[in-house]
Amino acid sequence: AVKSGGRGAACRFEPAIRARAEERRTLETELGGALARGELRLAFQPVVDAHDEQIVGFEALLRWGHPELGNVTPDRFIPVAEETGLIVPIGHWVIEEACRWAARWPANVTVAVNLSPAQIDDPRLVAVVAEALAANGVAPERLELEITERLFLDEKPSTTARLAELGALGVRFALDDFGTGYSALGYLQKAAFSRIKIDRSFVSRAGPGSDASAIIEAIVRMAGSLHMTTTAEGTETRSEFETCRDLGCSQVQGYLFGKPMPPEEATALVVPSLRVFAE
Ligand code: C2E
Ligand code: MG
Ligand code: MG
Ligand code: MG
Repeated sequence: AVKSGGRGAACRFEPAIRARAEERRTLETELGGALARGELRLAFQPVVDAHDEQIVGFEALLRWGHPELGNVTPDRFIPVAEETGLIVPIGHWVIEEACRWAARWPANVTVAVNLSPAQIDDPRLVAVVAEALAANGVAPERLELEITERLFLDEKPSTTARLAELGALGVRFALDDFGTGYSALGYLQKAAFSRIKIDRSFVSRAGPGSDASAIIEAIVRMAGSLHMTTTAEGTETRSEFETCRDLGCSQVQGYLFGKPMPPEEATALVVPSLRVFAE
């Protein structure tokens, strides 16, 4: 909003605000048909064991390539998908597609899928997950559902019940972006989390003797006491990686070990004997 400055200031800001609103309407309209038009893709980013630096899994990340708008980043379209409710059908597709690919990987390679609060509100979610696992013959322990603390902001009794139903299927939970939100530690008891993902904002500031290192160390220690493991997110350099590993993070994920990549490329990393052709 324009605070002061009279007409001149208002005139300077209005076009930018109008452009934003227009962009948003365009994204809303276009996202509605994106799935049916085949514009959505998954990218898979390697998750690596901190000790032997081998791939232990992949995180599925949505990509949207629009013929005119080009590549729209998740930071721009996920909020639109959440507000319009489109995240529910799109999220179903993500779960199914992630399981289809996981079925081609060795049985010890996991797949992580991000869930928005609106998806967890949806009563069909449990059946969608169960069906995707069964149809593809993927063991439930291989699927890790990533949720953020945002989910717990409005205390809905249905949330904990839904998480318990999902947990009963045998899938795992990770608490994503840990440290950036509210970090009320009570949230850690809202689901049977097996993993805490330490946000990149700490990882990128981790160095010997830094405050970020002290925070990472505290999270790692707490996670250990709660029988959870930790992943350092957004590890870009060797020194960030070594710091996080030495502080006790069990897994790392970041550009140092691989950017989010097309499914065929990810698959070739864990099934090297297989020649995979783009479909
Ligand atoms: P996230 O789940 O925390 O995913 C990690 C983000 O960090 C990804 O951004 C990834 O590309 C990026 N990243 C990974 N390594 C590095 C690194 O070394 N450096 C930097 N600078 N970034 C790194 P992306 O793909 O743009 O996704 C952004 C967010 O959008 C995700 O954050 C997640 O919250 C959301 N999102 C993505 N796909 C889905 C989806 O299928 N469903 C839902 N509900 N949300 C999704
Ligand atoms: Mg995530
Ligand atoms: Mg994250
Ligand atoms: Mg994030």
